[in-house]
Amino acid sequence: METGIDYKLKETLKRVFGYNTFRGTQEEIIQHVMDGKNTFVIMPTGAGKSLCYQLPAIVKEGTAIVISPLIALMKNQVDQMNAVGINARFLNSTLNKGEMTRVKKETLAGDVKLLYVAPESLTKESNIEFLHKANISFVAVDEAHCISEWGHDFRPEYRKIKSIIKSFGDIPIVALTATATPKVQLDIQKNLEIEEAEVFQSSFNRTNLIYEVKPKKQAKKQLIRIVKEHKGESGIVYCLSRKKVEEIAEFLKVNGVNVAPYHAGMDGNVRMKNQDAFLNEDVDVIVATIAFGMGIDKPDVRFVVHYDVPKSIEGYYQETGRAGRDGIMSKVVMFYSYNDILKLEKFNKDKPVTERENSKYLLEEMALYAESAVCRRKQLLHYFGEEYHVENCENCDNCLHQREHFDGQDYVKKVIESVSQTEERFNLDHLSKVLLGIKSEHVLSYNHHKLKIFGAGKSNDEHFWKSIIRQTLLNEFICKDIDNPGVFKLTPKGVEFMLDPYPVDLVKDHEYETEGEEEE
Ligand code: ADP
Ligand code: ZN
Repeated sequence: METGIDYKLKETLKRVFGYNTFRGTQEEIIQHVMDGKNTFVIMPTGAGKSLCYQLPAIVKEGTAIVISPLIALMKNQVDQMNAVGINARFLNSTLNKGEMTRVKKETLAGDVKLLYVAPESLTKESNIEFLHKANISFVAVDEAHCISEWGHDFRPEYRKIKSIIKSFGDIPIVALTATATPKVQLDIQKNLEIEEAEVFQSSFNRTNLIYEVKPKKQAKKQLIRIVKEHKGESGIVYCLSRKKVEEIAEFLKVNGVNVAPYHAGMDGNVRMKNQDAFLNEDVDVIVATIAFGMGIDKPDVRFVVHYDVPKSIEGYYQETGRAGRDGIMSKVVMFYSYNDILKLEKFNKDKPVTERENSKYLLEEMALYAESAVCRRKQLLHYFGEEYHVENCENCDNCLHQREHFDGQDYVKKVIESVSQTEERFNLDHLSKVLLGIKSEHVLSYNHHKLKIFGAGKSNDEHFWKSIIRQTLLNEFICKDIDNPGVFKLTPKGVEFMLDPYPVDLVKDHEYETEGEEEE
């Protein structure tokens, strides 16, 4: 028999949101939030995170505070809520004094169910004072990965959230994110002090996306071919710079494609107009920087092309994730060249050291992903801490066109030895140097040139060893050390393997030319 609260939730789901059923784990999550427990939701984009705090906010007494870093998104959600008769408001820098006063008054009168707050507004003294007086039901921290330096979108103000919430009293927290590597997940829980929170993690596998990586050669020609294959369908082409956006949009236009550009340097009105034209299907293709897409919910995007290499796997996953939200097969293609990686590294030159190192690490992961011939899906899911044991996904370039396989037993042994002999404290670069027998300053400073494993892999090159180390990782013989980004440790599986080795199926990396690359 349904309890009163179950009925109330279902009734609100239908009446306010117009849905008959919950999706995936939504119901469990919402029950948890209703019970006033700390909750951690990790769900891919488009899976339906918003409902997990909107619905309990409506049913619960008091005002739910939603911390969200994106002002545009905030406005969108508030408009949507208001349109269905729910009193939602936002507090951010776009409000004038009068509007601000009104929002606060309504909130204190208990009329506001959802109050969206930008992190920089939350940290303002006057707002903290106001929130102290409000009757807060719970706090939802959206885009919670912004709290971690090891994510792709670190926001320093996110670090202050917990202490501010604490000052309001013992208020439950719901943290939500669409991307969290195990390292970032731990950071979120530590920073928000919700280590004990129940974690609701849905699979990141987007089964209807076909992943492809292509060498960035004659990229414009390749792009035209992809766009023509999808004539009359919606697609997004991501470029790194505003200039490139303009150039590619113009190029597609002269080739008869119905296209519009989108980037942060454009006039706000034109940008809005282009976005609407894409949503209303007045244009088929939008060429954009990553500024485009945050919170955009167009279900039938049939292809996403990364004309330039993205800065991180997280970004790549988010951007490709905008394709095929309706569940219909869609294609995502990335053009890859190592020159792009080098260019991006140069951009980071002036950043503070830790930030630069993190960006470099994220880029390296990107390059390894692109160059690897292992199933794309397996690699992506592994990156987000999910195991994928399907032999052939049948929907990625590496599964559809398999590269040469070989028995890597002896190589894997060497990798495990290198990790073990260096006492599980070193990264990809260092381990490959040890295997290759390179007496770098770093290697010498640890006396690693005296190890038995030093130089044991010198008949192969660096590229080869990096690929083998990666595949040893993907096969779970070694794993990432969660407390030391980049560092590898042995797994129980790896230890067992050393005691009783067996054949390991490995695959040769792709080879991309780095010299004399012609782009067009
Ligand atoms: P996320 O924040 O995880 O990216 P959203 O909350 O924006 O996802 O939801 C994605 C889409 O799924 C939206 O169009 C939303 O209306 C829809 N949706 C969410 N929950 C349900 C449900 N229970 N039934 C049907 N559609 C849903
Ligand atoms: Zn695959």
